[in-house]
Amino acid sequence: MNRRTALFKVTGLALIGLTDIKSLLAMPMVSKQNLTNSFHQFKLGDLELLVVTDGHIIMKPVQPNFAPGINKIRVEQELDRNFEPKDNVELSINILVVRFKGRTILIDSGCGENFGKDSGWLVKNLAKAGIQVHQVTDVVVTHAHPDHIGGLTNQDGKLLFPNAMVYLSRIEHDFWLTKAPDFSKSKMKDQQLIKFLTEVAQKNINALGDKLHLFEDGDTILDCVTMQLAPGHTPGHCIAKIFSKGEELYHIADLVHSAVLVVEHPEWGFDGDTDFNLAVASRIKVMDKLAKNRSLVFSYHLPWPGLGHVRDKGKAFEWVEQPMMVPD
Ligand SMILES: [Zn+2]
Repeated sequence: MNRRTALFKVTGLALIGLTDIKSLLAMPMVSKQNLTNSFHQFKLGDLELLVVTDGHIIMKPVQPNFAPGINKIRVEQELDRNFEPKDNVELSINILVVRFKGRTILIDSGCGENFGKDSGWLVKNLAKAGIQVHQVTDVVVTHAHPDHIGGLTNQDGKLLFPNAMVYLSRIEHDFWLTKAPDFSKSKMKDQQLIKFLTEVAQKNINALGDKLHLFEDGDTILDCVTMQLAPGHTPGHCIAKIFSKGEELYHIADLVHSAVLVVEHPEWGFDGDTDFNLAVASRIKVMDKLAKNRSLVFSYHLPWPGLGHVRDKGKAFEWVEQPMMVPD
């Protein structure tokens, strides 16, 4: 393992089953006593939504993780102008939980035990929100990077959400389970890192057995989540439209990892993208639509709790955080 891989690993970089109805009905509502800043709750139509933190990831140095090949001074000026540190980018790990019709649905599972103590907090923080692991009925996976799928299992490969059905794009499933996933269009060339990504994806997918349900682009899951392919970050990378009673929220998964470097300069790119140019194209296409429609957006990696809007800014975009008037 070289230094960069080591740093990456240490600091972090990604069918409805039978359910115990009684335990779901007994699910406690969140009491004031349990409130901490490790989760944030809100409503969308009939859906009860929670954002739970799985921790954070510090990516250091900034380049070439971000903006590979872009002039260093230009990148530092942009970070400085936005009051951001010049030597690292901190990524939140925001997990969206959807509660609807007695089901508890996670969108992605966090890092699990793959990245050390700065992440893997999901199970602990779900408990603080009154949700035990056996009460999770479904996990919808946006893509199979270790910080998104790594929380499905523990180190021994045991499922951490034993009653949950898991939903994954068929394209994503097929990509990671091929003998040698194709990274030829990526700027990521670290073979040990690629091996790590592949092993974590395979371990978690293979642990699922008949709990795994593969979906296609445009499929709607559990009447409230429509998966839309936004390829490039990985071949099967999806964003998720969460909807109820005419209200919508777009979970944009790993479309962007930094408001300053990627929302404002989508073409600067991210070297963790499997297909660098396709990721740029998807990023611009989706952000253009979100900006035009003034959609409410949830981001997995932008600052906690990840809620906001994308605004058109001429040739680029900007991230407008949703104001939090009262702390949880
Ligand atoms: Zn990610």
